[in-house]
Amino acid sequence: MAVARIALPVAVPHAFDYWIPDGLDVRRGSVVRVRLGHRSSVGVIVGVDATSLVTDRLQPIDEVVEGPPIAEEILDLAEFAGRYYQAAPGLALELAVPPAAKARSLRRRAAADAAPDARAAVALNPAQASAAGEIAGALGSFGAFMLRGVTGSGKTEVYLAAAKEAVARGGQVLMLMPEINLTPQFEQRIRIALPGAQAVTLHSALAAGARRANWDAAASGVAQIVVGTRLAVFTPLPGLALVVVDEEHDDSFKQQEGVRYHARDLAILRAQRRGVPVVLGSATPSLETWAGARAGRYRTLELPLRADPRAQPPAIGFVPVRGSRAQDGISTPLLDALAQRLARGEQSLLFVNRRGYAPSLKCASCTWESECPRCAARLVVHHGPDRLRCHHCAHVERLPRACPQCGNVDLTPLGFGTQRLEQAIRARFPQARVARVDRDTTARRGAFAKVRQQIEDLEVDILVGTQMLAKGHDFPRLTLVGVLGADNALYSADFRATERLVALLMQVAGRAGRADLPGQVIVQTDFPDHPVYRALATQDYGGFADELLAEREAAQLPPVTRVALLAAEAHSREDVDRFLASAVARAQALAGDAAGVEIFPPVPAAMARKAGFERGQVLVQSMQRSALQAFLARWREDLAASAGTKLRWSIDVDPVAF
Ligand code: ADP
Ligand code: ZN
Ligand code: ZN
Repeated sequence: MAVARIALPVAVPHAFDYWIPDGLDVRRGSVVRVRLGHRSSVGVIVGVDATSLVTDRLQPIDEVVEGPPIAEEILDLAEFAGRYYQAAPGLALELAVPPAAKARSLRRRAAADAAPDARAAVALNPAQASAAGEIAGALGSFGAFMLRGVTGSGKTEVYLAAAKEAVARGGQVLMLMPEINLTPQFEQRIRIALPGAQAVTLHSALAAGARRANWDAAASGVAQIVVGTRLAVFTPLPGLALVVVDEEHDDSFKQQEGVRYHARDLAILRAQRRGVPVVLGSATPSLETWAGARAGRYRTLELPLRADPRAQPPAIGFVPVRGSRAQDGISTPLLDALAQRLARGEQSLLFVNRRGYAPSLKCASCTWESECPRCAARLVVHHGPDRLRCHHCAHVERLPRACPQCGNVDLTPLGFGTQRLEQAIRARFPQARVARVDRDTTARRGAFAKVRQQIEDLEVDILVGTQMLAKGHDFPRLTLVGVLGADNALYSADFRATERLVALLMQVAGRAGRADLPGQVIVQTDFPDHPVYRALATQDYGGFADELLAEREAAQLPPVTRVALLAAEAHSREDVDRFLASAVARAQALAGDAAGVEIFPPVPAAMARKAGFERGQVLVQSMQRSALQAFLARWREDLAASAGTKLRWSIDVDPVAF
């Protein structure tokens, strides 16, 4: 009797054996249904043995869920992800299982079915043509490119031109992007650039049926262009010829739970194994990619200018925050610039990376400040309805009228969120049409698309919003961007904070003056000489990245070193401390023979308590990926044996958040 080893989506480090009923046609990669305990579960066959002596104690496979087995390439990729990211094989293989296996639907949402667009394809400028030519010339074998182009330089047209060549040769193209860039506008650009090509999207906002139909189109080779978010890196593509990762620096490519994979890194690996080129595009490449280019592993392609020949780089200015308090946090130069835009009928964007009215509430006469009872975090003041809300857990309470500690009625909201700014702007410019765009105003389905349309139709004069608006949007009459509260990020303990801030500021600044109207950016900061703001002012990301890389080298931080993070949480701090102390002891014992792995002492997490859980972590690092990998595999086995049930723990390899 033949036996199948089946990976099931449970957090155990092994596969399970089942016997294969006579006549059932299965092999490695088959997706099957089996019983696991009292439940029925879908799993993936990872191996088949011709005979087994123990079949009488085994359960049979109940049924085959999917027709053809998962492609070997995808199984390999998922198995690699499981090993590399220290996740249970069953959880990793789940990533390879076709979406909603039962939800086969007739509905096909393919770009080519939509009405043809009247707009003509743009003619590439010389820099674009040369970049696209280099990529197209590399089709047919592995090669990695860093495509660095300032915002508005037309990177998308480069991807699409290279994609066109790949499609002309009968290939398929995988384009990964952050969720936010997958707009109908983007799909329209594909239709224009590649008329007649079949393009599909794969992302979480799609209904199950549509997602499955699109996945089928990709897996069968019918769809030539597959655009998706991080999970799409596991899509089978029999004719894969080119991989693109747009905004490769974006942290949304890293999954933050379960199998903590980085889709960009898996995309590079996939391209290498398939022998096809991969393009990593960004205005502000991650230091990982930057180091790869500097080391000569990636070829550099540059788009130094905005694509629209009328568009000039924005004028960037800095004004102090001090003294702007009297005017609700908005400085006089910024107010003047807003008034000017209103008079000219142009649009403005005020960017502040905090939603709500104010980040906290404080008593004017005692020490009380609004704190979440379940997190090491402040409760944020929200109006309409008036509440104190935690942004890290579900905790909500009424806005107190008086200090809960001393009874004083003089409570002061500290700092500025989007709500407070919106209110201040409305009071100051009663004639202006103001829209706020943050997670609160766009929670309802379709709300974001609606406000986006209003901006496009010039029904909005002043936009107040969080980073939702920073990326990928193109509003020709938006000529002023005001940045508030950015200094907060300078105090972060995360070594990537400045890298992120520059990326974000360059993105936001890139919203201003995209077409024939000149753009202006006003940043409110008390530290205009900080390297972050210098880089923004000179638009010299390269110089900044080189400096940052030198700093990382000196401090022995990624990407110069490889790190992994062991995180633990439990209701009692003692349990966390005990677990981490023993984890460090075990690690030291292991690292004794696994030379070249450095283990740091346990520390509280950046947020030491969250939703009632005490949190701590241990960082381990090595100069060598392979040394770290070998160490982690053994450490994980030890930890699994020692962690009790009261404690949750995880290992995050190449973490992006601490
Ligand atoms: P990026 O992704 O690099 O920020 P986009 O690809 O979004 O830039 O392009 C910015 C804008 O420039 C878009 O409106 C696009 O249609 C336009 N564009 C791109 N290439 C050209 C070109 N060669 N000529 C004119 N406009 C272009
Ligand atoms: Zn008080
Ligand atoms: Zn909380």
